[in-house]
Order: sequence, then C-alpha cells, then structure tokens
Amino acid sequence: MSADPPVGSADGAGQPGGQPPEVPAAELFEEVVGQPKAVAQLVASARRPVHAYLLHGPPGSGKRAAARGLAAALLCPLGGCGRCNTCRRALNGTHPDLVVTERAGASIDIDEARTIVARAQRRPLESARQVLMVTDVHLADRAAPALLKTVEEPPPSTVFILVADTLPSHLATIVSRCVRVPFDPVPHAAMVGWLVARGVDPDHAETVASASGGRLDRARLLVSDEGFVSRQDQWRSVPTRLDGTGAAAAAVASDLLGSADEALAPLRAQHQSELAALAEQAEITGAKGITGRRQVEEGHKREERRWRTDDLRFGLATLAGVYRDRLIAMTGPEGEAGTVGSAAEGRRTTRQVGAIGDASVALGRNANESLLMDALMVELSRMAD
Ligand SMILES: [Zn+2]
Repeated sequence: MSADPPVGSADGAGQPGGQPPEVPAAELFEEVVGQPKAVAQLVASARRPVHAYLLHGPPGSGKRAAARGLAAALLCPLGGCGRCNTCRRALNGTHPDLVVTERAGASIDIDEARTIVARAQRRPLESARQVLMVTDVHLADRAAPALLKTVEEPPPSTVFILVADTLPSHLATIVSRCVRVPFDPVPHAAMVGWLVARGVDPDHAETVASASGGRLDRARLLVSDEGFVSRQDQWRSVPTRLDGTGAAAAAVASDLLGSADEALAPLRAQHQSELAALAEQAEITGAKGITGRRQVEEGHKREERRWRTDDLRFGLATLAGVYRDRLIAMTGPEGEAGTVGSAAEGRRTTRQVGAIGDASVALGRNANESLLMDALMVELSRMAD
C-alpha cells in the first residue's frame, strides 16, 4: 500500500478483487436533506480522510445525519459501501468504533473533554479507525483548550467529527485545525419534498416548510402539531374580525398571543424529555443531579422565546399574505387598473401590508410582543375603514 491507497483502506483492511462500486455510496447521506454542497464535500473528503472535520450550521440542518454518513465511510472496509454491517451500524449509531459524545450538562465541561482526549488515544475495536463525534462543540468554551491538542494531532487511527451550531470566537483555534463543512438552513423546496416523501399532504407540506425556518427538527414537530392548522386559520381570520373597535382589536391581539403560547407545547414536551434523559444519565453516573441544570433550563427558555417569536413572525407573514391577496384581487397581479376596489382601498391595503412588515421587523428586535401586537391590531383596524 502506498501513501495514497484507494478509497477508505488506509490501513489495508479488506480490499476485495474487482472494481468496487463508487464509494462512499450516496445512500450514506440519504437522510441529509437539501445540502448538496456539504454532501459533495464530505464524499470527496472521505476518499482522502483527514484527522478532523467540523460540521457547522444552524440546528436542524442535518449535521448529525451527515456525521454518521461520514463515519460509515471512514469505518467501512470498502470505503462506505452503504450495505455492509459496518455501514449499517455506523448509520444507526451502534458501531463500537463510532463514539458519540453528548454533553451531560449545559456545556461540554473539562471532565468531558478529558474523557474525549483519553478515548482518542485508544485503539479501534473492529475497524482500521475509530471516529469520535463530539456534538455541540459551540458549547465547549472552557473545555476547548483541553481538546485542542488532541483534535490538532490525534493518533493516526482516530478521526474527529466535531459538530457545532455556530463558530464562536473561543473556538477559533480548534476551527483552524479542522476541515470545515458548512451547512445551510434546509431550502424550502427540499423541505417540501422531504415532507411529501414522508406522507405529508403537499399543501400542508408547503405550509409546514414555510413555518419551519429551514429546520428539519422544527418541521418534524410541526407535522405532528395538531394545533398548527387552526393557528394558521386564526391568523387568516384577523381581517374579518377587526370591526374598527378597540375592543375587537384587543381581543384579536390577545388570541394571537395565546396561540403563540400553544405553539410552544411540542417544544416544551421535547425539553421535558431532554431533562428526563439528563436526569437518568446523572443517576447512572451517580451524580447528585443534572450538572448545570439551571443553564440547561435557561437554554430551553431561550429556545422557547426564539420559537415563539418565529411563530408570531410566521403568523404575521400569513396575515400579510391575506392582505396581499386582497390587493391582487383589487388590482390584478400586474398592478394594472383596478377592477374591483377603488384606488383608495388599494393604498389602504398596501399600508396594512407595510404595517405588518414593520411589526415583523420590530419582533426581531426584542420589542415587547404584547404591546406590539396590540398596537398593530389597532392600526390595522383603523385602516380598515
Ligand atoms: Zn460498508
């Protein structure tokens, strides 16, 4: 074997005769949705493996599924055939040479970093290599220096796959030692295709994809969220409920804020089960409780606030769509001379769409949601007559 052996057999592990099919096989990455660039980079890179990869991008963009695919390519004696027992076990996370480390508390702490470093020195059990997948590396602020040296120069049979939502400045040195593989939010069309392939009705898939913000995890929750459709209807009914009175405006605003609370239910349930899993883990390791429980809960609260804001913004976009449809009905899609409404009506509707857009921008700036929604409903209501 020379310095540059064929696919995935750096240590000379089983290379059967004949021309093997193209590896790594596309099947390894079939759970990665709408990330052709990242997948192409991983496929190319798996043919000439390096010591450390850093898969980074927003939550729900498929980084972990991609990491498992890459691990399969690195562990499989054929370079990632997609069919053998090694590939299958790597993909479902049960291969002994794929070690996935998950933080037990709010961040990766120094002890966890030391465990990772010690594990990196061990020999692989079955394959020619072992793959250490470290998740949530963006939460390794204090532990980052402890990881650096090993990530920089692991033993030849160890490959790191680091996974991070963001690249904070405290990671700069580690980042510079890895091959970076960026992930983007899942594009709308890819998300719709994925949902339809999972049996979701195409119209519903469109709506869920729009509301998901490019996150597969969110789309998964929305699909099983029975209140999602009725919340959308609630937003669509706003123009007919506003009768010009302050009382109606206040009632509508309060209902919409209430529906944003309801939207949190599936996420809250997920957070509860995360806490339960952490508590179970703590019990196994004999700890008194979850390490950094308060930070974990604060992290959940932050995520819930973001989720709520996103839900309100999606609602506002739905509402703007209702007014825009009215405008199109009045003027025709090209904005030609009105057939139904008067010019004054057209201007009013345009202002309503504008007011909704302003409110959506203000939401992103941490404005007081309740004041903002009250003010918007009063404004829309005034414009209505
Ligand atoms: Zn295989």
